[in-house]
Amino acid sequence: MRLLQRHLCTIAMSLVAVCTAHAATLVEPTLHIKPAASGAGRVALTLDACDGQTDTRILSVLVENKIPATIFVTGIWLKRNAAAVEIMRAHPDLFELENHGGHHIPAVDSPQKIYGIKSAGSPDAVLAEVESGAAALARTGEPAPKWFRGATAEYSPSAIAMIRKLGFKIAGFSINGDGGSLLGAKETARRIAAAKDGDVIISHINQPTHAAGEGVVQGLLALKAKGVTFVRLDDADGTGNHGTTD
Ligand SMILES: [Zn+2]
Repeated sequence: MRLLQRHLCTIAMSLVAVCTAHAATLVEPTLHIKPAASGAGRVALTLDACDGQTDTRILSVLVENKIPATIFVTGIWLKRNAAAVEIMRAHPDLFELENHGGHHIPAVDSPQKIYGIKSAGSPDAVLAEVESGAAALARTGEPAPKWFRGATAEYSPSAIAMIRKLGFKIAGFSINGDGGSLLGAKETARRIAAAKDGDVIISHINQPTHAAGEGVVQGLLALKAKGVTFVRLDDADGTGNHGTTD
């Protein structure tokens, strides 16, 4: 299939000098934390704040139940959500803010589209996305971020190497809790409640009108009821594949 694709690609290139099959093969890295030595297990909850607003259903439940979380914020989201940032900063024991990029542009250094979003498209543009995200966080007075997660959580391998050189670990995940915030409440709750010792959950905290947010709340409360411990990425030994953490 790949040979055929390459063949067709060569033909297409000779015609139009453009060939999408030449786009980099992307990876979606996984991340696990070290399992608990005993008890009901521990999981890391990571929530992306891509753009848009704040899902206060989730934020309130985290505060009320003292559930720690790692929040991946973009520069765009930080600008529009000052009240939520204030709540997070008022609970430094609960919230660790990390780098989700300046403008929510996928960290892919060749021009292509991922889930309909245009990639950064060049090494310089990937650098700009990572560095502007870190700079936006620095302006809030937060500690310097140590983790990066790109928009769409997919990367070109060369972008991963570049981001690691900048000193960031890259945050994959092991459980896709809310399917990009597009799943229903029931399915989201089921996925999150099924988290096992060592899992890293990804969901979203920027879509207050989506049903998925209600599912995030239910799933987290189910885990808490089981006695699961929540940890932030900085407090856990996270191991990812594709050279994202080592
Ligand atoms: Zn995002």
